[in-house]
Formats: sequence, C-alpha cells, structure tokens
Amino acid sequence: MANPGTSAPPDLFEAETQALLTARAAHAVCACLAPSQCRQALGELLRAYERLLRETRRLVRRSDRAELEMNQLNSRLQDLAAELEHRATHDTLTGVLNRAAVIELVNRHFGHDDLSLIVLDIDHFKRINDSFGHPMGDRVILGVVACLQAVVPASAHIGRVGGEEFTVVLPRQSADVCEKLAEDLRRAIESCDFELPDGSGVTASFGVSWAPPGGDFDSAYGLADEALYVAKRGGRNQVCLSPCFLRSLEHEA
Ligand code: GH3
Ligand code: MG
Ligand code: MG
Repeated sequence: MANPGTSAPPDLFEAETQALLTARAAHAVCACLAPSQCRQALGELLRAYERLLRETRRLVRRSDRAELEMNQLNSRLQDLAAELEHRATHDTLTGVLNRAAVIELVNRHFGHDDLSLIVLDIDHFKRINDSFGHPMGDRVILGVVACLQAVVPASAHIGRVGGEEFTVVLPRQSADVCEKLAEDLRRAIESCDFELPDGSGVTASFGVSWAPPGGDFDSAYGLADEALYVAKRGGRNQVCLSPCFLRSLEHEA
C-alpha cells in the first residue's frame, strides 16, 4: 500500500515520456506499421519536443532574470556592508576616523611600527558655542578638520577622539617630521579665517608623543594628552612634546 508520506512527486514530464514511449515502440516495429500510425507517433513526439523547447526557453529566461537579480542584490549588499563599515569607523559630522577606529588603528600599527601621536584640542571652544551657537561651533570643527586634511601627508590618519579634540596618527615618521607637522597644523588653524561674527580667530593646542613598536593607544594617548595639558597651561596655541618624544628627537640629532 502506498504511504502518503513517501509518495513519489508527480512527473512533470509525463506527456513527453508517454510520447517518447509511443515513438520508441513505433520505431521498433515501424516496418509493420501503417504510415498513419507512424505519422501519429511522430506528431506526438513533435508536440512533446516543441513543448519541451518552449519550457526550456522559459526556464532559461527565468534563470537569467534570477541571476541578474541576485547579482544586483549582491552588489547592493556589498555597498551596504561598506556603508555600515564606514559608519562604524567614521565620525558622522566630519567624516574622519572615530575614536574606536583610531584606537584600533594605533594598536594595529604598534604591532610592528614605531608611532607618533599628535593630539590637538580647540582652544576656548565653549566660547564659540556660547557666543555664536552650536551650528557655528560645528562649522568651526569642520573648518579645523579641513585645515588638518590640507596639511597632513597621505601616510597620516586623522581622527576625532572627542567633541573638539582630534588626533593625527603618524606611523614610521621621524620625530623632527612629526614636530614640524604639528607646528604646521597649529599655524594652519591660527591663520585660517573661520568667519566668526566678531572677526576673532580660532587656535588649538597640541601634544605630541612617540613610542617604539610594542606600545599601545592608552599609553601613547596618555603621554600626548599630558603634553597637551602642558600646552594649555602654557597659554594655549602651542605645541608641546612628551618627554619620550624629546628623547627620540635628541637621539635623531
Ligand atoms: P580649552 O581651551 O581648555 O580646551 O576650553 P574649551 O572651551 O575648548 O573646552 P571645554 O571642554 O570647556 O568645552 C568644549 C565644548 O565643546 C563643550 C561641548 O559642548 C562642545 N562640544 C563638544 N562636541 C561638540 C560638537 O560636536 N559640536 C559643537 N558645536 N560643540 C561641541
Ligand atoms: Mg578645547
Ligand atoms: Mg576638549
């Protein structure tokens, strides 16, 4: 007795199989068949073959469409994955690396490179927000990033690690190049016209650290931040170097 759970699926090509069997039987005994019987068997075979051809063409068209759609979906998926990756690693306001991405980048480089870290913080930024509003503050942040982008070399990476605090990551750069770069960045910001309503300018203070391979973000950042604090206490709008950076400069000299 047939088990309903295991019954064979319906044969999609039942008509074609039947036409084939009839044609085969006719072919085996065609010498004994009347011409009308041969014609009938051939006619059935033709109809079955034509239907098969139509179905095959339809299936090929459908599979081509499915392949095209799959390729389009795949490419959209890749775009979305890239967009997601970009959003996860970049700051939404400025488009530079976010804090998490800077930490990952610095720690990755420390696996095999020495690295200098420039940390800069906009001076008296609260005054800009308080005097001219938050949107003006945002424009100043964008202007500072534009200054950094115009000056840093292609091998450096810019990140936003706090509200108005940025880093420039410099792997495998000599200490004097990094010191000069920090000074160039300071000057670029100082001389930029941010078009503040009262005509005042914008400045930033800088701290620079250096560490050999094997270092990590926390210690490199801590040293640069200490130097930045010295720059703030020293009157702002200046570059201060961490002690290990100074030692590395002396070593180069
Ligand atoms: P200092 O010279 O000591 O660095 O003083 P400061 O006023 O720059 O520093 P403070 O830490 O007192 O103020 C920073 C302000 O930055 C406070 C915060 O509201 C503002 N801020 C942080 N993120 C953003 C932002 O994305 N947009 C704007 N417009 N302001 C921000
Ligand atoms: Mg500040
Ligand atoms: Mg700050």
